[in-house]
Amino acid sequence: MKIKDGKAHLAALDVDREVFLDGQLIKRVTEHPAFRESCRTTAALYDFQSRDENIDLMTFDTGTGVRANRAWQIPRSYEELVAKRKAMTAWAELHGGFMGRSPDHLACAIGGQIAGLEVFRAHGERYAKAYEDYYRYARDNDIFLTYVIINPQADRSKAWGEQEKEDMTMHIVDEDSEGVTVRGAKMLGTSSIMAEEIFVANLQPLKPGEEDLAISFALPMASKGIKTISRKSYEAHALSQWDYPLSYRFDENDAIIYFDDVKVPWERIFVYRDTNVCRAQFHDTPGHVSQNYQAQVRYCVKMKFLLAIARRITETIGTINMPPVREKLGRMAAEIGAAEGMLYGMEASGRFHGEYYVPNRHLLYAAQVYTQALYPKFINEIRELAGGGLIMLPSSVADLANPELLSMLNSTQASAREGDDAYERMKLFKLAWDAVGSEFAGRHVQYEMFYAGAQFTTAGNSFRTYDWAGADEILKGIIDSYESPHGSSATESARAQSLAS
Ligand SMILES: Cc1cc2nc3c(=O)[nH]c(=O)nc-3n(C[C@H](O)[C@H](O)[C@H](O)COP(=O)(O)OP(=O)(O)OC[C@H]3O[C@@H](n4cnc5c(N)ncnc54)[C@H](O)[C@@H]3O)c2cc1C
Repeated sequence: MKIKDGKAHLAALDVDREVFLDGQLIKRVTEHPAFRESCRTTAALYDFQSRDENIDLMTFDTGTGVRANRAWQIPRSYEELVAKRKAMTAWAELHGGFMGRSPDHLACAIGGQIAGLEVFRAHGERYAKAYEDYYRYARDNDIFLTYVIINPQADRSKAWGEQEKEDMTMHIVDEDSEGVTVRGAKMLGTSSIMAEEIFVANLQPLKPGEEDLAISFALPMASKGIKTISRKSYEAHALSQWDYPLSYRFDENDAIIYFDDVKVPWERIFVYRDTNVCRAQFHDTPGHVSQNYQAQVRYCVKMKFLLAIARRITETIGTINMPPVREKLGRMAAEIGAAEGMLYGMEASGRFHGEYYVPNRHLLYAAQVYTQALYPKFINEIRELAGGGLIMLPSSVADLANPELLSMLNSTQASAREGDDAYERMKLFKLAWDAVGSEFAGRHVQYEMFYAGAQFTTAGNSFRTYDWAGADEILKGIIDSYESPHGSSATESARAQSLAS
């Protein structure tokens, strides 16, 4: 049965697109020094899933003569959800959780929305059909999608429709019998360089009157008029794999996507001119929960990887047996244990949405609030444990080729970890710096703090989905179980008091 592998993925990427970097237009990304390693890393994910020994773990039979990555599977039971988590965990372990928008993210987002297809049916049968057809196409071809569902930040005191620059936020400018034309920008297309297609929608609320912004669709990244304005490439600035092992291989990139009068055919449009359906596609379907469930699976892998770095640093500098250091590591391990516990809890206490099994919504949002605050704190703790060892390093791998320098490095880079020499110590600290201190690491702090929205957004989702009624029942049970000996109302009690006097 056909299964997508790395070669097929690179071939799919090898078409002309418009990517702007450092003032240049780049059309082919797979061999460009700013992007080629991250393209190869993504290709390696597909190679992993197509290996005989991993096929069952990573893929499922779609019933259409192909096997696709399990992320596309819409679980019908707790067991299917767990099987999906195991596949996503195995992929995340290949990049240490550092590729936030690996292909499984959008597969989960789209599958989750399809599980709530009734939302699109109510909007219009043509939109539901377009979306269902698209899901099948994307699943059966194991398409790597990115998404842009946020509008450019601009002036946050104004609604999107009130921003001064008319063509800033992507909006509808024309429609005809073939489709709709859109113009303007969306942020922040993570992985858009390595993705084949892009999904566009509005996660932030729109108001009535903002119908020109209210559209959701998917298109190939190579579509005419889609311009990818890349941020700085950390891969391009990574001196070598040895110096920046994470930036070098896992820089998934982020970009402003500008739609320069892009024509979207009707068969690729899923929401049109309805501000409420823009919200509903995420929140009245299991879509938002499903995409963020994948994010929590990945996060747990990343935190385990970071904890392993933290522990090895303390072994290397000989602090591992000091009680305050053990206590700190113990607390950090407990924090990860709590995140993992929330993950297993949201699976075990899931619910059915129609025939589909969905993780517990509130526990998912609780985990987001918790983990987005935990990440910067955790990074700081690793820096605290490491001290100057993160900086006391050779300038680059080239220093190892200079015999005079090498001899000095060998005698100054001592390691307390059994079996490790100067080389092992330098290798560990170079990796650790790329995880906690480099520009790539700084971007990851920003990513974990914001990929799911600012804190007021994630806390708002937690507020919205908490079982307040259940909590209030407990309060009611206790507060209603006693009364004042002077009667049940303050006025009555005041009257009784005045009569008595
Ligand atoms: C590295 C990275 C990758 C990303 N990748 C993607 C992607 O692939 N696809 C995508 O669609 N999006 C992506 N995003 C965008 C992300 O979804 C947004 O950053 C997020 O939704 C927050 O929006 P914002 O950046 O406009 O920040 P804001 O919402 O503007 O928040 C900035 C600050 O202002 C405060 N603030 C703003 N408005 C209010 C308010 N009304 N009340 C109180 N406080 C307020 C916030 O609390 C916060 O402190 C990415 C972001 C980052 C950082």
